[in-house]
Amino acid sequence: MLIKNKQIYDFSKCSYPPVGQCIYCGSKENLEKEHIIPYALGGTTILPLSTCRNCAKITGHFEQEVLRGPMWPVRKLLQIKSRSKHANVPKTMRLSIWKDEEEKQIGVPLEEYPVVLHFIVFDQPGYNNKHYIPEGRFF
Ligand SMILES: [Zn+2]
Repeated sequence: MLIKNKQIYDFSKCSYPPVGQCIYCGSKENLEKEHIIPYALGGTTILPLSTCRNCAKITGHFEQEVLRGPMWPVRKLLQIKSRSKHANVPKTMRLSIWKDEEEKQIGVPLEEYPVVLHFIVFDQPGYNNKHYIPEGRFF
């Protein structure tokens, strides 16, 4: 949901027409749907035919790093939907601590793990902004 001009927009009820080209590199080959907000963060709204298989693989890899990294305890704590129903969530999470001027890694039960949310603000997908490079490279 987004609150704008004191109106709440529920994007889960929005549908969009097929884009017809990859929003990241501009390719028109092997197009797939793209979740606007990742499914694993509760996103249900998609852009049909909007990412090529190659870019989907790249963004999917990045999403897995984040969703199975710093976002994993948050997703479990908030019971955000999961295709695996959170069956693979570890019982403990690794945490770095400093003691006697030495960094140590300890395992912390998931229920006690300090949840800190980091959000990266990205620019628009490459094809939609002035930084687009036709060769499909990301920067
Ligand atoms: Zn692409």
